[in-house]
Amino acid sequence: MMRNYLKHYINGEWVDSTGSETEVVVNPATEEVIGNISLGTKEDLDKAVQAARDAFPAFSQTTKEERVEMLENIAKEYENRKDEIIETITDELGSPLEISEKVHFMMGYNHFSQAAESLKKFSFTEDHGGHTRVKESIGVSGLITPWNFPTNQTSTKIASAFAAGSPVILKPAEQTPFAAIILAEIFDKVGVPKGAFNLVNGSGSVIGDGISSHPGIDFVSFTGSGATGEKIMKNASETIKKVALELGGKSPLVILDDANVEDAAKAAVSHIATNSGQVCSAATRTLIPSSMKEEFEQAMKKALEDFPVGDPREGNYVGPLVSKKQWDTVQSYIEKGMEEGATLLVGGSGKPEGLDLGYYTKPTIFTDVDNQMVIAQEEIFGPVMTVITYDTVEEAIQISNDTIYGLAGYVYGKDPETLRKVASSIRAGRVKVNDAEADFSSPFGGFKQSGIGREWGDFGIEEYLEVKTILGYPS
Ligand code: NAD
Repeated sequence: MMRNYLKHYINGEWVDSTGSETEVVVNPATEEVIGNISLGTKEDLDKAVQAARDAFPAFSQTTKEERVEMLENIAKEYENRKDEIIETITDELGSPLEISEKVHFMMGYNHFSQAAESLKKFSFTEDHGGHTRVKESIGVSGLITPWNFPTNQTSTKIASAFAAGSPVILKPAEQTPFAAIILAEIFDKVGVPKGAFNLVNGSGSVIGDGISSHPGIDFVSFTGSGATGEKIMKNASETIKKVALELGGKSPLVILDDANVEDAAKAAVSHIATNSGQVCSAATRTLIPSSMKEEFEQAMKKALEDFPVGDPREGNYVGPLVSKKQWDTVQSYIEKGMEEGATLLVGGSGKPEGLDLGYYTKPTIFTDVDNQMVIAQEEIFGPVMTVITYDTVEEAIQISNDTIYGLAGYVYGKDPETLRKVASSIRAGRVKVNDAEADFSSPFGGFKQSGIGREWGDFGIEEYLEVKTILGYPS
């Protein structure tokens, strides 16, 4: 099915682009063109900013109850579009249908429903005796999102902004724009006030750059690479705009010596299999006790057999990478790992056998990795695991933190005291102990160069608010 979406959604309407440039969207599993989008212009962006500014006075004054109802209606309508959302994500991203449903579809749904729940409990006015604190909408927010989670990153930002009463302009990634079109249709259907949601498709260099430098935008929330995050911060500094950045990671998974080897190995390989390893919070450095080396490596090799690579429409666990560009990047890191002297346990460069068409790559595990190697320090964003050995828990903690990143950390084992020690010593915004369940009310974001700010739940809502102190507020 060809999807030609050449319009932007501005001020409650689908409007033509003021420019004529378009960009093709490719299905990474088939390499076929599956549609086109318009590459917006600065003029399109100006119109969207104006619409959002016009919407601001009324939207920021809507009641909490009105916004809770709006978010609940969005969640319901999002559910009504379930099949289409799943199909679209599989087509544009290449993620297996099961992952498109259980991970991508569900994350979007959870963010809208969680925002409604968090908003119900949220306090916008607090009496502190000598003063009153009032939390007010930050104003017009520019949202720039990447391709790896087409509904998760858009939905968490939009849901939080709507909960706060902040109008938005969304620029989704060029590679995966169609899920965002469905979101726009959902907002239109449930009657999100005109101008409160605007969608301008386009390139990073025109619309992304335009958002971060626009004097009419008060806040930029970005998810993507560190290099782009740096440009956004520089641009935003010229108009003293607040920025929130959700960047990359090189997260550690510390396996303790009392862990069940099979379970831990399965947990480790699922990090590189899920979404073909294109996950910012994925564990890509597995730290194992030297004494367990042989046993653990064999268990990982075996666990990987449960994650075959193949056509995402056929229910495989590992689909292709998103693009030729991403495929090339991942290949170059695999080659780098071999050059650096790491041992290739499984995988390697090139395409898996029989999969010549599509941007498929072999899930790859490197062992005998030194944490100073490039493959242990840089974010690869593909199904590549580095395995590092350690002798003491202190050493495992030291290696875990020897990175510029701090997005996530994982620890697997039994002894509660050691689990607590490792979990509290990892310098990262999110640490998961064993197979703990996801919790969408919990804050998500990074320490160090993994970012600035937090998303999800009440922390997400706070990002789209300013705090005002009022002295002598009449009660
Ligand atoms: P990117 O940072 O270039 O793109 C992310 C978004 O930013 C896209 O919407 C893009 O159009 C926009 N953008 C690009 N240049 C911009 C600019 N100058 N100003 C404002 N916006 C701009 O990321 P990418 O090219 O899609 O992926 C490259 C690498 O980034 C990946 O290999 C991966 O390591 C990393 N990445 C991280 C995440 C994450 O969740 N942390 C997500 C995607 C990619």
